[in-house]
Amino acid sequence: MDSTHFYRDTWVEVDLDCILENVKRMKDFLPKEVQIMAVVKANAYGHGDVEVAKTALEAGATYLAVAFIDEAISLRRGGINEPILVLGASRPTDVKIAAENNVSLTIYSKDWLDEVVENYQGTTPLSLHLKLDTGMGRLGVKEKEEVEAIYNTIERNARLQLEGVFTHFATADEIVTSYFEQQYQNFVRMLEWIPKKPKMIHCGNSATGFRFPDKVFNVVRLGIGMYGMTPSLEIKDELPYQLEEAFSFHSKLVHVKQLVKGEKVSYGATFTADEDMWVGTVPVGYADGWVRKLQDTSVLIEGEYCQIIGRVCMDQFMVRLPRKLSVGAKVTLIGKQKENIITVDDVAKALETINYEVTCTISFRVPRIFLRNKRIIEVRNPLLRH
Ligand SMILES: *Cc1c(COP(=O)(O)O)cnc(C)c1O
Repeated sequence: MDSTHFYRDTWVEVDLDCILENVKRMKDFLPKEVQIMAVVKANAYGHGDVEVAKTALEAGATYLAVAFIDEAISLRRGGINEPILVLGASRPTDVKIAAENNVSLTIYSKDWLDEVVENYQGTTPLSLHLKLDTGMGRLGVKEKEEVEAIYNTIERNARLQLEGVFTHFATADEIVTSYFEQQYQNFVRMLEWIPKKPKMIHCGNSATGFRFPDKVFNVVRLGIGMYGMTPSLEIKDELPYQLEEAFSFHSKLVHVKQLVKGEKVSYGATFTADEDMWVGTVPVGYADGWVRKLQDTSVLIEGEYCQIIGRVCMDQFMVRLPRKLSVGAKVTLIGKQKENIITVDDVAKALETINYEVTCTISFRVPRIFLRNKRIIEVRNPLLRH
């Protein structure tokens, strides 16, 4: 028994061929000199960090990005040796761990860098990317004096290497481009503060890569587009090529029974059968990320939409069935059945959120199955990893 097994009828399928295709299409679309940094933070947006990273590298990505050091170490433990950038803030006391794992870190203030210099006694040079805040108001340096002081500190310290400089756009996925243009101009202006440019200059997320391929300098940080999802609904129609959604979510009916008119379903007894009807129990709940707000939305069974009735429980929910169906019938929460489909965007809409949040929210309790050529090549169930 190990993490390649699972003992529940609920799973996520990640079609790695979609990831491969999405990365290749972005690479073909971008100018030849532009590299792809595959963003695999948050367990690759809930898909599976090591498997997605390996596939992106196979498709031509040359760099990986994560949010914090633990995520980078997870990739290293998964056997990945390619360069990794931590986009978020790291503790200055942890830079030794980063250097030992050959992980690049983000400089976001002079104070941070000073603490790093104070703390880091190792001999391995530490690779760094300088984050400029051009209008996102999150991490990054804004003032010329601070940028110059950071640059000079690095110049004077042989153990520090400036590999890159970057920024992040707040509105690259919006139709109106004025704020994007303003941030882009800020970036161009601020780059002038750096006398000798590092080898990597990057500002583009997926939306920027799709819409402004001539404004990405020499790297695109590809996240959402790699998973086959649109950065926003408003630019969905102007994407330069088709995206292949890699993520689907499935379960099976574990119990089927008939309710007599007037009988109730789930906590609070909020649902009352308005007629004699068939009801099915699905072993998925809010602890799996299928949150209570999804009550009244639908799942697919035998290719038909079936409504979730009553409250979603921690580990189970109930659906109204069109007729008596068999225990074991496949339930698709996200994905295709026959002619019908429930996309990540459909679920996002029901939750009044964005697609990014949906796949990230499907929890570690749900095993991930990885497909290549429609065949299972790997299974990951974190519950059985010990
Ligand atoms: C998450 C993230 C990305 C990826 O953005 P997508 O919209 O998913 O392509 C790029 N850059 C930074 C700094 C990020 O935090």
